[in-house]
Amino acid sequence: MKTLQQAIVHFSDRENCRQFMVFMRWPDGVPRCPYCDATKLTWMAKANQYRCYGDHPKQKFSLKVGTVFEDSPIGLDKWLPAAWLICNCKNGISSYEIARALGVTQKTAWFMMHRIRMAMWEKSFYKMGGNDGGPVEIDEAYVGGEPKNRHKNKQFARQNPPTVQTLNGLRPKNKTGRLTDKIPVFGMLDRETRKVRTQVIPEVKRGVLMDAILANIEKRSTIYSDGLRDYIPLKAMGFIHDTVNHVQEYVRGEVHTNGIENYWSLLKRGLKGTYIAVEPFHLHRYAEEQAFRYNNRATKDNPLNDADRFMLAISQISGKRLTYAELTGKVGETETFQFARLGRTTETREEETLDVRLNSFSASSAALISECGT
Ligand SMILES: [Zn+2]
Repeated sequence: MKTLQQAIVHFSDRENCRQFMVFMRWPDGVPRCPYCDATKLTWMAKANQYRCYGDHPKQKFSLKVGTVFEDSPIGLDKWLPAAWLICNCKNGISSYEIARALGVTQKTAWFMMHRIRMAMWEKSFYKMGGNDGGPVEIDEAYVGGEPKNRHKNKQFARQNPPTVQTLNGLRPKNKTGRLTDKIPVFGMLDRETRKVRTQVIPEVKRGVLMDAILANIEKRSTIYSDGLRDYIPLKAMGFIHDTVNHVQEYVRGEVHTNGIENYWSLLKRGLKGTYIAVEPFHLHRYAEEQAFRYNNRATKDNPLNDADRFMLAISQISGKRLTYAELTGKVGETETFQFARLGRTTETREEETLDVRLNSFSASSAALISECGT
């Protein structure tokens, strides 16, 4: 498989989908029951399901159970090409385009895209920079609307929006839920691994930035930033810190933040052109989607192609779930990592939480109707 066209043709066959999913989900090629881990299973081709002989409810399960595709009525023949599209569109793709390409409604496409973004999210357990003090570029950016064009009163209202309490913290109380003001995002680029990591932050403030840096960058690393005063404590905190003054210069030898700025321009272009309006609540997923493409772009030493990016995203589908309720802010997000692939750490989920989430999802998927914006 090299092209989207080939992927669509390949995955239109159920048996091809099954073989592919088994290959991606179980490195040894032996499918296991998601509930009891048994390997004694029967494939029921007509029902497109496995049957387990273990003593537990839900003996029949599809290949989507335990992945971001779980409990969705959409077949793998649409899920897999959708993932291919999202992984490989440089500036992102809108839910309208996905809907047209795959013959699903825009609302369905919107939900599918958020789940696929979940798979694209590379949860990293290592810190950037590393022990050899490899350089890390850091930068903050404001992503979203255009405050400069606003009327003064409106500017005030936007800077002090009414908020509502949700389980995920404060959320702007805004009828349409649209992104109406710029949202600060903090970004870090490890120059050695050439990987970007981002974090949506409540505000650009010393404490917030230092927390993000300490959580993601190894001490004694070299950090390059702009001249923002909030970065001054970095030296005292045990980092090697050098800045470029953007008023006078942009590059001084190794000291620049061009890499992370390149990522910002991709993110902003994607948000502007493709995702006409993004809720602040979802911004981190768009940032992660763009980070996935950025981190897995083709380079001289690492000539990844479309199929590689697709395979990488699919290898990350297991154990991650995003329900509609979570997506719309009704309950907290749950992320579990079940199958260790590509060296990721595992965290086995408990059956109890699985059941809770399965139940909550059945109810929520029925409600897949409202609040689908972009
Ligand atoms: Zn079982």
